[in-house]
Amino acid sequence: VAQAQRNMEDSDDDLERVVRKTGQSGLVNAYGIPVRPTTAHGAKRSASDRRSLAPSGARPTTSRGGGRGESSFGLAPREKTPPSNLHDKIRVCVRKRPLSTKEKERGDKDIVMATGARSLSVMEPKVKVDLTKYIEESRFVFDEVFSENATNTQVYERTAKPLVEYIFGGGNATCFAYGQTGSGKTYTMLDALNGLYIQAADDLFAMAARPEHSHLKVHVSFYEIYLTNLFDLLANRAKLNAREDANQNVCIQGLREVLVQSSDDLLSVFEYGNNCRSTGSTGANSDSSRSHAILQISLRDNTSQRGSVVRGKLSFIDLAGNERGADRGDRADKQTMMEGAEINKSLLALKECIRALDLNKKHQPFRQSKLTQVLKDSFLGNSRACMIATISPNTSNSDNTLNTLRYADRVKAMKNTNGPAS
Ligand code: ADP
Ligand code: MG
Repeated sequence: VAQAQRNMEDSDDDLERVVRKTGQSGLVNAYGIPVRPTTAHGAKRSASDRRSLAPSGARPTTSRGGGRGESSFGLAPREKTPPSNLHDKIRVCVRKRPLSTKEKERGDKDIVMATGARSLSVMEPKVKVDLTKYIEESRFVFDEVFSENATNTQVYERTAKPLVEYIFGGGNATCFAYGQTGSGKTYTMLDALNGLYIQAADDLFAMAARPEHSHLKVHVSFYEIYLTNLFDLLANRAKLNAREDANQNVCIQGLREVLVQSSDDLLSVFEYGNNCRSTGSTGANSDSSRSHAILQISLRDNTSQRGSVVRGKLSFIDLAGNERGADRGDRADKQTMMEGAEINKSLLALKECIRALDLNKKHQPFRQSKLTQVLKDSFLGNSRACMIATISPNTSNSDNTLNTLRYADRVKAMKNTNGPAS
């Protein structure tokens, strides 16, 4: 019942988030058709109508969003939305990738527009019953929006970099890439050349070299979660078990942790594991888009009286694709359905856990999925999380893009509320 209640609250959020303007925005889309901003989520008319009562030119926003800086002066949101704080506990960012050559060749259009440092619009071409064409614009505001022109270096500066400093203070920090297969999760998170993890490693080793950190050693582990199974990518995909000890700490038994002395070290360990990921021959899964990959960099203190203890941990998570089964084409079999159900479950649990972390909730729904269970210590106390929702720009992916944006929107939906945290 509680879950159903929450789901309903979520759809209320949706409704409240719906943005509708009756006037013309003056925008013209890729087809040269004037843009008619309308609902973000196909909401019922009544809710949108309420929106249109907002002062003219205002960007209607959520009931809680009053503090987000939108004004009634008809200014675009980008001019009024204050910059987000790099040191927020939870950050939700969106990254749009460029149209691929293939997409261009087949005449696919770019329907996503980064309209400001924190805002973006999706412009879906639609046809009315009387066959007139129009554009439905859905607008969103996030902590950060990266356009197709943003480089991995720029993304790093505003997402993972602050987390590197943070873990030297003894905390846990996690960077998630969430989105449909092909939207740029791996490119952002685990690209060997300049994915966030390797840029973070450069900064991390620079910091670890300081005299005050001489007692800290850098260790790395790399594993994946497929269905409810854990596989160690640094140990030939050995199957692992997660257990909760008497103190309710979750530990993955036998997980290999490799000591690394430099970014180059880390890179070769990563490449070893990554190779294991894609060529895994256990028959479990040959398609890495159906599993979550977790790369963890830990600062270990071996001088402690209690033996080796972790003093800080930074995790990079390349989540399984969030697309629905139908998008996956041919394999409409039992296995595919199980994969889809499990992925869905874990992504819903993840959303709840991040929200709970943001609200300092005591009760967190870790146990709802393997993913959130093994990441338990990343949702506790002073942990920090940064989610990068990656989206494809093209028309044919618009449903997945909107799903991704709505999910990301809900992860941060409770942020900066005036009400008391429960
Ligand atoms: P995912 O991991 O979400 O399935 P990938 O990271 O594999 O997606 O990206 C799909 C393709 O798009 C890859 O060829 C990748 O190099 C390219 N790509 C993704 N994001 C970008 C970007 N921001 N800039 C340029 N190319 C990108
Ligand atoms: Mg990938």
